[in-house]
Amino acid sequence: MKIHEYQAKELFRRYAIPVPEGGVAATVAEALAIADEINAYPLVVKAQIHAGGRGKGGGVKLAADREELQQKTCEILGMTLVTPQTGPEGRLVQKVLIEQAADISRELYLSLLPDRATATIVIMASSAGGMDIEHTAATMPDKIIKVSVNPLQGLQPHHIRRILFGLGIAPDMMKQWSALLAALYRLFVENDCALVEINPLVVAGSGSLLAVDAKIELDANALFRHADLQKYRDVNEEDPFEAKAREYNLNYIRLSGNVGNMVNGAGLAMATMDIIKQAGAEPANFLDVGGGATAAMVEKGFEIILSDPNVRGIFINIFGGILRCDVLASGIVEAVKKCSVTVPLVIRMEGTNVEQGRKILADSGLQLITAVDMADAAAKVAEMVA
Ligand code: GDP
Ligand code: MN
Repeated sequence: MKIHEYQAKELFRRYAIPVPEGGVAATVAEALAIADEINAYPLVVKAQIHAGGRGKGGGVKLAADREELQQKTCEILGMTLVTPQTGPEGRLVQKVLIEQAADISRELYLSLLPDRATATIVIMASSAGGMDIEHTAATMPDKIIKVSVNPLQGLQPHHIRRILFGLGIAPDMMKQWSALLAALYRLFVENDCALVEINPLVVAGSGSLLAVDAKIELDANALFRHADLQKYRDVNEEDPFEAKAREYNLNYIRLSGNVGNMVNGAGLAMATMDIIKQAGAEPANFLDVGGGATAAMVEKGFEIILSDPNVRGIFINIFGGILRCDVLASGIVEAVKKCSVTVPLVIRMEGTNVEQGRKILADSGLQLITAVDMADAAAKVAEMVA
């Protein structure tokens, strides 16, 4: 789960990681109140959206005085911000962070993320931080220092030394850096993060460190044990279909194709998406209704698939185990009647009570296309959406 910069900075403060003074505002009046409290210009106005590259898209602006702050806030609040990471549709800015501007002498890059391949936490650092880090990573990968930390051992002094020597940190600055790295590592582990990134990590004119930007992704599967972090969820930033699916306890991921599909079991769902692609079509979603799905969940699944305007056909692929085929078939019939399905529906069903299930479908009077196996179903649906 992604969180906003202002929320990430709240977490940083808890771990004594230095961040600029500031506050978040949803209106111009709130922004001015924060500015008046800080009252040390220049200030920065920063769009709060779950995407990076805001600087390049015009979502980060400096204000030299109160009047300018009001003007920049008016510009950014409510704008649809398009950045290299938002896609062409952009994101609506509903909040801004008002902060004291940093006096920047150097911009560095620092991030932590889990590396599945080595089962370690990788710390990445670069002295070439700032807005073009992606370019640096692509063209000068040797400018990026990577250190892997075994989570069972934790962060050791030798890890820290490798990062600091790699960045060319002066000896009198090392204590400050070590403290920052230790705090970040602790934050990462204690909050079950999937990513912590500071870009830029600024060395101010005075030599002190400051996290000018903050990006955190939390592991959604670990959120249940962090009651304090759940409030950071921002439904406005989520895909509306995915948010709705979560309400109904459905595992749904929206994709860009046009074959909607509903499957029980994540493994079968993956196989279904593969076979759709193999048949020459593209899945519009991943949807696992789960082994113990009810007829009501099937109906909700339908509703979500059908609300996606890209969907031209639906492939239902069910193995009746805990969810019996007759229950599923009744659910499908109910749902199709209720949702007025306007696209072709291909069904492949096997397992417990499959004969009763097929009979329910056949007797329903609905235009359903049945398939003998997965490959047959995929071929049929692919042909219909072509
Ligand atoms: P991002 O573009 O979404 O990653 O947003 P950032 O918070 O990283 O801001 C983009 C860029 O704006 C940074 O790389 C800085 O160069 C600049 N910037 C951000 N905050 C400040 C600040 O307080 N002072 C100055 N001088 N520049 C800033
Ligand atoms: Mn940044």
